[in-house]
Amino acid sequence: MFFHKNPIKRLIFSIPVIFVIILTGFVFYCYHAGYMWIGEGTLLKDSTVYGLLFLLTWAYFACMFTDARTTPDNYKETPKTHDYEATFCKYCDNVRPPRTHHCRSCDRCILRHDHHCPWVGNCVGFGNHRYFIQFVVYATIDTGFVGSCCFGVIMRNDDLNWFTILGAVLGLGLSVVIGSLAGFHVWGMLANMTTIEFKKSMKSNIFDRGDWQTNIKQVFGDNLLAYVLPIKTSGNLSGLDYPYNLENLDKDITEESIDNLEVKT
Ligand SMILES: [Zn+2]
Ligand SMILES: [Zn+2]
Repeated sequence: MFFHKNPIKRLIFSIPVIFVIILTGFVFYCYHAGYMWIGEGTLLKDSTVYGLLFLLTWAYFACMFTDARTTPDNYKETPKTHDYEATFCKYCDNVRPPRTHHCRSCDRCILRHDHHCPWVGNCVGFGNHRYFIQFVVYATIDTGFVGSCCFGVIMRNDDLNWFTILGAVLGLGLSVVIGSLAGFHVWGMLANMTTIEFKKSMKSNIFDRGDWQTNIKQVFGDNLLAYVLPIKTSGNLSGLDYPYNLENLDKDITEESIDNLEVKT
């Protein structure tokens, strides 16, 4: 939401973000009131919940406050390297680098655009995709952990209160929902495919480098600590150009038809 030019849009896009923060706060309050404060918590369990809460909150705000990255003003298409994906954005009136798409919500082109996420109030793209993946993975584990703890108390049927029940229902429910999203994004990262590219044609994955280690590096870079913590990373990609393999192109899809698809998004 911080990257929207229009102040009214900034206000509207802050509503889902506030909802996520309140919901997250409530789930962890349920852990306190429905588990920890009734004498069920242990040092190991409490530090696991708090540690993961710290990481998921850090990743969430990193994803929200980090620019997903847009096409630089001085970007010029290089015909030799962009012979396949050279497309033009009619909204920005500018040439687009490969894997770049225009976001209608943000009203700008986003490098390696994955999707616009109202729940983090930002686009998910080249600049912040790894933070988004960390957030959904940590949120899946932590809500699942809270839900399982509370569910265990319900099964024993002792000393439970409404917070125990809500902790179990919300924790396990959110873990399944966010977990599906996390699973999809991890799979997409390992296959080197964005959500937009998956929707277009999952058979034509021309950016897959053939092994998941190389694919994952295009998102998480070379700094191994950045795989765990939402910190800056280094890598040899600028977000403007990607190695690709046209042999993976689905024969039913011509280069022209993909260009047309890209212009529509
Ligand atoms: Zn654009
Ligand atoms: Zn956007």
